[in-house]
Amino acid sequence: MRIVNIKLQLLEYPLETPFYPSWLPGYPQTAHRVHLLTLETDEGIKGYAAGVAFLREGTGFESLLMPFLFGRDPMNVEEVVQITRSATFLGLRLWWIELAFWDLIGKAVGQPVYRLLGGYQDRVKAYASTGELRDKEARLDYIAQVREMGIRAVKLRFHSWDWRADMRVVQAVRERYPDMEIMVDANMGWRVAGMAPAPKWDLATALRVAEELAELGVRWLEEPLDKHDYEGYRRLREKSPVALASGEMNQDLHEFREYLVRDALDVLQPDVTLSGGILTGKKIAAMAEAFGKQIAPHTWTNGLGLAANLQLMGACPNCEWAEFPYEPPGWEPNARDFFLTEPILPDSEGYLPVPSKPGLGVEIDEAAVQHYTVA
Ligand SMILES: [Mg+2]
Repeated sequence: MRIVNIKLQLLEYPLETPFYPSWLPGYPQTAHRVHLLTLETDEGIKGYAAGVAFLREGTGFESLLMPFLFGRDPMNVEEVVQITRSATFLGLRLWWIELAFWDLIGKAVGQPVYRLLGGYQDRVKAYASTGELRDKEARLDYIAQVREMGIRAVKLRFHSWDWRADMRVVQAVRERYPDMEIMVDANMGWRVAGMAPAPKWDLATALRVAEELAELGVRWLEEPLDKHDYEGYRRLREKSPVALASGEMNQDLHEFREYLVRDALDVLQPDVTLSGGILTGKKIAAMAEAFGKQIAPHTWTNGLGLAANLQLMGACPNCEWAEFPYEPPGWEPNARDFFLTEPILPDSEGYLPVPSKPGLGVEIDEAAVQHYTVA
């Protein structure tokens, strides 16, 4: 089997209402943009991968990828990991293209990827992952809605200039719903500055937040510090009464090794589209398992990214929670998964099923791809 066709398209889906990501202060997101890579083999099998696009910065990827991918045997995933690692020299984070190789392999052998990686579970408990800062009342309404969907866990964002404002939302949720699992994400690992003032915590602030969250029975505090401040995480974890999670913006094996050898985290959050591909994700999960740690992959990219991360989760015994990005009306499943034939949704018991069709488990909606292609 050889790759004989390579196509890269930029898709742009206008959001119904602007979405205000807490991690991008001052930025109203009005469109969901995706780089969609299609690889076709000499047997006529198509494999897909999708990467994040902020604007139209990916123009030119296709000519860059062509000489590296054309004629390659898609079974040799280690080779593509090395290629994507090389691309970091150009400042490019192209780990996501590896997903198309797994999509091809799974389709060639008629199995979803998680079963090829050592299948463990066919569904994972979902937590509803919020994306905006909202006041108490709006957030309580949201939680009532996700509970109707069967979900019993929610991740709340902290990014107000004064974190006490965000803490009041957690307090309100805890008071109303004593049985709800609550996670908190500060999004300080990859802090976006330049559009509006963006908060930045020091170690003492992170510890104070952790102490208050522990009083409210919060399950984990995510990214209270910079993604490369391994020593800061180690020192924080020594004193933090609440579990710490991080890693969505870390890359490759060695960055995750830094967290592990320092015993700096409780939960590692590699995202197969951002951290090294599915193969590297499985290796990180294995390292985490050896250190007695959980993984809870970040999934906030697009529907194909969510599907690919679910394939990894399905193959890992040390993965209990699946991030379900959900913040209507701006960021709802149809917007997130606009180029899939069906959106990925939790079952009635609040679990996300690992997509079960061959490859990444989902189907691309060719008509939608055509409709939303802008370049
Ligand atoms: Mg996060």
